[in-house]
Amino acid sequence: MQNDPLSHGLWETTAPPAPLTSPLAGEVKADVAVVGCGYTGLSAALGLAEAGAKVVALEAVEIGFGGAGRNVGLVNAGMWALPSDMLKALGPDYGERALALLDNAPAAVWETIEKHRIDCEPVHNGTLHCAVGRAGVAEIEERARQWGERGAPVKTLDGGQAAARIGSSVYAGALLDMRAGTIQPLAYARGLARAAIAAGAEVHTQSAVRAAERTGRVWTLSADAGSVAADWVAVATDAYGGAPWPQGRREQIRLPYFNFATPPLSADLQAEILPGREGCWDTRMILSSFRFDRAGRLVFGSVGALRGTGLAVHGAWARRALRKIFPQIGAARFEAQWYGMIGMTKNAVPRFHRLANNVVTFCGYNGRGIGPGAVFGRVLADHILGRVAEKDLPLPVTEPDTPALAAVRETYYEAGAQIAHAVGGWV
Ligand SMILES: Cc1cc2nc3c(=O)[nH]c(=O)nc-3n(C[C@H](O)[C@H](O)[C@H](O)COP(=O)(O)OP(=O)(O)OC[C@H]3O[C@@H](n4cnc5c(N)ncnc54)[C@H](O)[C@@H]3O)c2cc1C
Repeated sequence: MQNDPLSHGLWETTAPPAPLTSPLAGEVKADVAVVGCGYTGLSAALGLAEAGAKVVALEAVEIGFGGAGRNVGLVNAGMWALPSDMLKALGPDYGERALALLDNAPAAVWETIEKHRIDCEPVHNGTLHCAVGRAGVAEIEERARQWGERGAPVKTLDGGQAAARIGSSVYAGALLDMRAGTIQPLAYARGLARAAIAAGAEVHTQSAVRAAERTGRVWTLSADAGSVAADWVAVATDAYGGAPWPQGRREQIRLPYFNFATPPLSADLQAEILPGREGCWDTRMILSSFRFDRAGRLVFGSVGALRGTGLAVHGAWARRALRKIFPQIGAARFEAQWYGMIGMTKNAVPRFHRLANNVVTFCGYNGRGIGPGAVFGRVLADHILGRVAEKDLPLPVTEPDTPALAAVRETYYEAGAQIAHAVGGWV
């Protein structure tokens, strides 16, 4: 997108084409305007259109331009935060509601893909949270205990069992979560857009909302060549947002995350590495992730931005790390590389904000946006349709945070990841 192979990398090369869209032109009236065409905005637009509302979704660049088109494609349940931490942060009522919704978030993604026949390489074979050392084992055991008590289909694997599934002996164990799996993330976003359009939504790309004004009950959102007048606005811009509602973006610390993709591995290597095609990430603080795509490319990622010296530093690290984890691959080559920004909130819990009268947003998924985008997008639609009262939402209404020294911390994380990868191997 925008002639930048480092923005969406492999996903842009292998996704089916986006549905045909055009920039917003002239004055349009709608019941609801959606700002941002990632998972949240498109899921909201789909839900609204299916309920018969007139919905116009505006995207600044292209469908999936934000996190939706750049991520690893791990369809996870729950959040990064443990269930106990979610309950602590949200209290028992909201905490239980949010956990129930997020427990089922992957199921919502699989159902949507099936219902709308979205061609996005879905693999519902579980994920493996790979334990590094004894601290890693303790972490996955606690996660397994907490989700197991809630009836989730999770189990821990010992080092030997993990090695057999992963094709690597570097991990001390793994947590297998059968709710989860992998998708081609940009293909899923494009498929959601196609489904929303088929349900009656108007989707306009190259249509950044520049300004918003309210007259009486009606909001008028202006883009370069047109405007939308609507009673409700769903803001779904998350970590890629800006004016006129930058609050959701500002309250998140943006953590860069990159991916490298190998060419398709040989049939022998594919039979040895992840024969069950689970998606994987590990328990280290500067974590790594890996998964296959449909063609058998290994997609390997970690924290860092592929810009400036980062491109060479992280590329060299990725080669060293892959050699350590999967020595059977030999010297890895990469045919694609890309990166994006993950938005992190102060307590690792997502947010619901009422930004103004009839202007609502969910944001702050902390690196877990595929499942949450699906279910929070639907809740956004249901709230606007009057089906879910504000008091019954899965998250409380809060004021956007303003984290201290956000820009300094972002620079520190980007530089810190580069230093860690420059001096370190994988262990
Ligand atoms: C590198 C990376 C790896 C990740 N890995 C995973 C993973 O494996 N699993 C997982 O679940 N999550 C992962 N995530 C997180 C996930 O991608 C995000 O949480 C998710 O994309 C958020 O969806 P969204 O629809 O809320 O926002 P986004 O997908 O970011 O979409 C926001 C959209 O709003 C648009 N926009 C912004 N301002 C305007 C405006 N003024 N007018 C119109 N449009 C506007 C942007 O262009 C953008 O397209 C990852 C993220 C990154 C960056």
